[in-house]
Amino acid sequence: MVEIVKKIVSSSKYNIKCPYKMTPTRIVVHNTANDASALNEISYMNSNNNETSYHYAVDDKMIVQGLPLDRNGWHAGDGNGKGNREGIAIEICYSKSGGSKFDKAEENAADLIAYLLKKYGWGINKVTKHQDYAKKYCPHRTLDKGWDRFIKMVESRLGSTSTKQPNTSKSTTFKVIYQTWDDVKNKWLPNVINDSDYAGIFGHDVCCVYANANEGDIYYKVHVKGGKWLPEVKNRNDYAGLYNKPIDGFMIKSSAKKLKYRVHLRRSKKWLSWVTGYSTIDSNNGFAGILGQEIDAIQIKEA
Ligand SMILES: [Zn+2]
Repeated sequence: MVEIVKKIVSSSKYNIKCPYKMTPTRIVVHNTANDASALNEISYMNSNNNETSYHYAVDDKMIVQGLPLDRNGWHAGDGNGKGNREGIAIEICYSKSGGSKFDKAEENAADLIAYLLKKYGWGINKVTKHQDYAKKYCPHRTLDKGWDRFIKMVESRLGSTSTKQPNTSKSTTFKVIYQTWDDVKNKWLPNVINDSDYAGIFGHDVCCVYANANEGDIYYKVHVKGGKWLPEVKNRNDYAGLYNKPIDGFMIKSSAKKLKYRVHLRRSKKWLSWVTGYSTIDSNNGFAGILGQEIDAIQIKEA
């Protein structure tokens, strides 16, 4: 891990920047949305009198700490919620322009997060993002590049303790786990397992889909309304879809099981028939949806 440089804010500013004692319970990941270095990011935070503050800024060369870890920051947009009052905030630098400096900053942030998880004895589920607390698309570039990819970067640094045990129980039920991005609420809806429920809210366009299974690999694609089929996504390496772009076609398959799936149409308020294929040729029962008609819910299960 690169060096951690401590530039802790003056205690005379604790009342503005970190007024409360804190017992941290989680990490909250941010992107700065600018192109400042970590040192400049923390210097700026420490020098102004805004109620905006974060524990660390990380760039391609160093990690700079600006707040003590036993005091809160103001970064998550949730007032006195768990993000602000229980979260260790990490800002990843150079997210505005991206490129190799940002990529290295993300790697350094993954090192720092793995270090903090070990220090506090936390699991990977303690790594959260700004977006989990407020209606804000942050960490924007980390999300664009794939949140699950970033989580895997952290996991890979945790060592063998986090490697999954081989699945020895043959009686385990096959589970597809999936969720959709709600364009009205502007957030990911909760995960759904098989057809115990459906993913989506009737009347709200689905824009993006995330899916994986407890066995084998899942592959899926969406068609953007008025646009085209987007590239195939595997498991949760990425999500399928574009924010704020309703989808009108969906297809999914598994390497382990035959799946069937269906979609609900927002305007005609009905479920279409179950589909088992995986092809852009609709006559081949290849995908679920009718091009031109927005999808507002999805269901997936083993065929
Ligand atoms: Zn943020």
